[in-house]
Amino acid sequence: MSTILEVNGLKKYFPIRDGALSKVQGYVKAVDDVSFSVREGETLGIVGESGCGKSTTGRAILRLTEPTDGKVIFQGQSLTELKKDQLRKIRRDLQIVFQDPFASLNPRMTIGSILEEPLKIHGMSNGQERKQKVKELLEIVGLTEHHIGNYPHQFSGGQRQRIGIARALITKPKLIVADEPVSALDVSIQSQILNLMKDLQEQFGLTYLFISHDLSVVRHISDRVGVMYLGRMVELAPKEKLYADPQHPYTQALLSAVPYPNPREKRERVILTGDVPSPANPPSGCAFHTRCPACMEICKTERPQTKEVSPGHFVACHL
Ligand code: SF4
Ligand code: MG
Repeated sequence: MSTILEVNGLKKYFPIRDGALSKVQGYVKAVDDVSFSVREGETLGIVGESGCGKSTTGRAILRLTEPTDGKVIFQGQSLTELKKDQLRKIRRDLQIVFQDPFASLNPRMTIGSILEEPLKIHGMSNGQERKQKVKELLEIVGLTEHHIGNYPHQFSGGQRQRIGIARALITKPKLIVADEPVSALDVSIQSQILNLMKDLQEQFGLTYLFISHDLSVVRHISDRVGVMYLGRMVELAPKEKLYADPQHPYTQALLSAVPYPNPREKRERVILTGDVPSPANPPSGCAFHTRCPACMEICKTERPQTKEVSPGHFVACHL
């Protein structure tokens, strides 16, 4: 499989000010030197607690928020160097699905116009063709053409997420960043949406960057999984490896808190003490050292480099 997306040393720092016009007091390091690549047709899951920088990573890749530093290469093209109008052209290939489909769908627009809008923005196809595409897509995501004149509030949460997915799909993108796409839904609806996403991936050859705080959701859909903590990617591995043999103490702690269907995977429960430190003032050295049960002297001062411990399994830890 070829690489479709390469993220290199990505950083996003938000300045902290007292008032809008006062001097910068410091930075929230929401994303702090994150690198990984995504292969065409795969699902890379990114998992971590809220505030770990996973959403910001997704948004910075698409330049919905401007990265502070680093490179993002999509199909050989450097997104981070593109001018705004060049970026607009490439946007049709890179779409996003949001957590809350209700907040992301304009309540005053019918489903028909919501779905046509991206085609208009990108100057794709004429009026008649657009209507045809909207109909086809509604059926593909499990709705019908009778829904075209309805408004977002007339749909259930699951249906709204189907509409959100249809809107992302209508420009025939290559890569979809899905940011907590099922977190707002009931568990029974979650698996329907995940299965729909899997079907669509096969049907359209999509690549997903799938962001979630939920380890079982990520496990269900991903081929590989990256774990983030305080703006850093601490471990990344093929799914089976990560869940069966996590190497980073943080991943081990996260996984030990989730019940497993496979009893052979049972492991000691690791209880983490202390809160997640503020990303405005992250600990020195390894950002996890204040909570790590295996912390050593070196961890307090030196940031661990990412090492490949077995093929495709990357860990940033001094152990
Ligand atoms: Fe724990 Fe040290 Fe590894 Fe950080 S580098 S996870 S503190 S052992
Ligand atoms: Mg988020």
